[in-house]
Amino acid sequence: MEEFDVAVVGAGALGSAAAHHLALRGATVVLFEQFEFGHVRGASHDTSRILRTSYGDEAYVRLAKSAYRDWGELERVSGERIVTTTGGVVFVPPGSPYPVTAFTAALTAQDLPFEVLDRDAVRARWPQFTLPPGVETVFSPDTGIVPASRTVATLQMQARSHGAVLRDRTRVEELRPQPDGVVVMTTAGKVRARKVVVAADAWTNALIAPLGVEVPLVTMQEQVTYFGPDRPEDFGDDRLPVWIWEDEPCYYGFPTYGEPTVKAGRDASDNRMTPDERTFRHSEELLDQLRTFMRGFLPASGEDVRTITCQYTLTPGRRFVVDALPGHPDVLVALGAAHAFKFTPTIGRILAELALDGRTDDDISAFRLRDVLAPVPTA
Ligand SMILES: Cc1cc2nc3c(=O)[nH]c(=O)nc-3n(C[C@H](O)[C@H](O)[C@H](O)COP(=O)(O)OP(=O)(O)OC[C@H]3O[C@@H](n4cnc5c(N)ncnc54)[C@H](O)[C@@H]3O)c2cc1C
Repeated sequence: MEEFDVAVVGAGALGSAAAHHLALRGATVVLFEQFEFGHVRGASHDTSRILRTSYGDEAYVRLAKSAYRDWGELERVSGERIVTTTGGVVFVPPGSPYPVTAFTAALTAQDLPFEVLDRDAVRARWPQFTLPPGVETVFSPDTGIVPASRTVATLQMQARSHGAVLRDRTRVEELRPQPDGVVVMTTAGKVRARKVVVAADAWTNALIAPLGVEVPLVTMQEQVTYFGPDRPEDFGDDRLPVWIWEDEPCYYGFPTYGEPTVKAGRDASDNRMTPDERTFRHSEELLDQLRTFMRGFLPASGEDVRTITCQYTLTPGRRFVVDALPGHPDVLVALGAAHAFKFTPTIGRILAELALDGRTDDDISAFRLRDVLAPVPTA
């Protein structure tokens, strides 16, 4: 039987990053992907993702500080420019369940720069936005954009060039923990590995439920829409920040990025679908809702030119999981709860450290499996 130090399941962002870091560390690693590389059935494809430190929870702000260092290291190793810094605004309308103070407290605690702006200050800097009265705005100068599909391809290329074995169209069907490692059963035979990293997102439970752990995951088909402004130059990354409308519903969007369009989407639209039920057709109802929002909020963004679908996999409280399975210390699990792209190289590095060293210096105490398995408080 083939033997590896580590087998990684899933070649989305997180699994590809784990394979990259494991290979960089000199481990023998195999990465299995059930579909073709670069497929669009998961969560890691398309053009862009938001990179930011501005969270209302210090655990993620702290991890984001590591992420900026790790993105820089990926740029250095790959020789590619990956991060585009645009600055970013979080708009908090009156009555939003997400108080501005949560953001400012977490950013202050981690010694990160930000400004709180009123409506007039926003209008003076970015007249493209039309804000209702009473909106408070947190501006973070470090917010930016990272490419989605391109990052995943870069990680896979780097992993391969450092000796990782990458196998697409190979589904992992079962994990069989042994006293010293794990036998990994795949559609193309079996391998033995000392450790296994499960980075299978929406498909995670199929592999871990037989080992006694099931995470209460909710999967959704999400969609993002590209709008075509008449004057794209007014929406360039030197003129418009990345923005988040932090309310229920929550919307987010980007300046132009590689094409004369602006992308916007609704976060967690609750359009529930399992991976097997995915239609890959966007919802007209959600698109209409977004069009209405954009006409009021960013009026010169123009008509929608295309909408693509993607998959969200939510854990309770949208908490990350980066942990070993209880009772199976050789099986590590990572779940990014539909906000993990910005942390891709960091989660990959931490998984490699956990697999090879059994520990990490990053604080991952907020990302334990037992916390997402516990009942979610309702208050
Ligand atoms: C529309 C959209 C916008 C987003 N915006 C942002 C953003 O702005 N900023 C941000 O930080 N995050 C964002 N996210 C979230 C982020 O993209 C995801 O958290 C991240 O991409 C998840 O990566 P993953 O590798 O865990 O999952 P996936 O990309 O789904 O990868 C999992 C992979 O595992 C494979 N797999 C599963 N089971 C098996 C098996 N048994 N055998 C072999 N292979 C298997 C799957 O085929 C898949 O390729 C967004 C997500 C979406 C969908």
